Amino acid sequence: MIILVLNCGSSSLKYQVLDMKSNDNYTLKAKGLVERIGGPVGSVTHTVTGSDKYIVEKPVPDHAAGIKEVLDLLTSNEHGVLASLGELDAVGHRVAHGGEYFSESALITPQTEAKIEECSELAPLHQPANLLGIRAVRSLLPSIPQVAVFDTSFHQTMPQWAYLYSIPYEYYEKYKVRRYGFHGTSHKFVAAKAAKFAGLDINNSRIITCHLGNGSSITAVKDGKSIDTSMGFTPVEGVTMGTRSGNIDAGAVLFLQEKEGLDAAAMSNVLNKKSGLLGISGISSDCRDIQAAADQGSEIALTTQKVLGYGIKKYIGAYAAALNGVDMIVFTGGIGENSSSTRANACRGLEYLGVDFDEEANLRIHGVDAYLSKPESKVKVAVITTDEELVIAQDTMAIVNSK
Ligand code: ADP
Repeated sequence: MIILVLNCGSSSLKYQVLDMKSNDNYTLKAKGLVERIGGPVGSVTHTVTGSDKYIVEKPVPDHAAGIKEVLDLLTSNEHGVLASLGELDAVGHRVAHGGEYFSESALITPQTEAKIEECSELAPLHQPANLLGIRAVRSLLPSIPQVAVFDTSFHQTMPQWAYLYSIPYEYYEKYKVRRYGFHGTSHKFVAAKAAKFAGLDINNSRIITCHLGNGSSITAVKDGKSIDTSMGFTPVEGVTMGTRSGNIDAGAVLFLQEKEGLDAAAMSNVLNKKSGLLGISGISSDCRDIQAAADQGSEIALTTQKVLGYGIKKYIGAYAAALNGVDMIVFTGGIGENSSSTRANACRGLEYLGVDFDEEANLRIHGVDAYLSKPESKVKVAVITTDEELVIAQDTMAIVNSK
């Protein structure tokens, strides 16, 4: 089954074409990125597996034009991987929010689409772009099955005491304000892969998954199910991120709004775009730049790294309590898979929990599945690489096959 995976952002669009023979037997045929959609100069970066990147700059007025551009490239003589669009069997979309409607991925029908639209209010920055992608595909390929894979659905197993905020209950009833959590596809995927890697029975396991990228979240996974996660009603909650604040006293937000005369939109901009690694360090939102500055002796860069690592460590402690112990701690995402200093700041001093952290392995391991703990460590710590597009393709295949 040949599947186009689409991840539509507000002004960009990422895609992959996977030939899925089975869940574990697949080939990535091509992938790429359309950027600056709606701007005066857009760009398309297209890579056929085994070939060099092909980059073209041209205006891409909207998502429909971006998807048309991708479909044209996929079937072009020079850069194509498909003889015709008829070879495409299905399209899988990353969709930001499934609210309380979706605890798993879903075939897109008029009914599911209406619910996705209803959830737009909960993810106003992402969901409208996801919907534009779904509708653009429909107009270009009217009969192709489309599947929505939600960032939130894995976390729908959280118990109510983990997802309720301690605010008047009527706000949950009226507006559905509660913890939803995000990065669900990644947490689900790496927890299962980690269990396999360590020879654990996923149905009888306690795993803490740390997905650390530009956005970061940590999840407590019990017996393969999410029971708590650090992102909340929005992706702002939790650990320090590239430009998002993570946890902050709601009282401090109100204080700042008053002092700086910021309305909700301006405050949201501070919390989402100006905070996190960038906000503290004043250097960059990119973990590599913070590392480079720390290597040069920058005090604020070192402190920024410690804030991030300490925040992660506190979640590990909290989730070990929630899980009544932990079998495995997993690092994934660009930072989790690569940043030795972040992992060390998070994992040093967890001996009380049974972690025997392997400092040497931590310095050596980048972007591959491998242990960061010593063989005798009671609690395993490991890097497990994520692949969100693969999960989208797997779910899409399963749903289309079962139709
Ligand atoms: P996204 O959340 O956008 O998918 P990624 O998972 O790709 O992002 O993670 C991006 C982050 O990973 C950036 O902060 C980047 O600095 C960090 N990162 C990537 N490679 C390294 C590395 N070798 N060392 C430290 N950090 C890295």
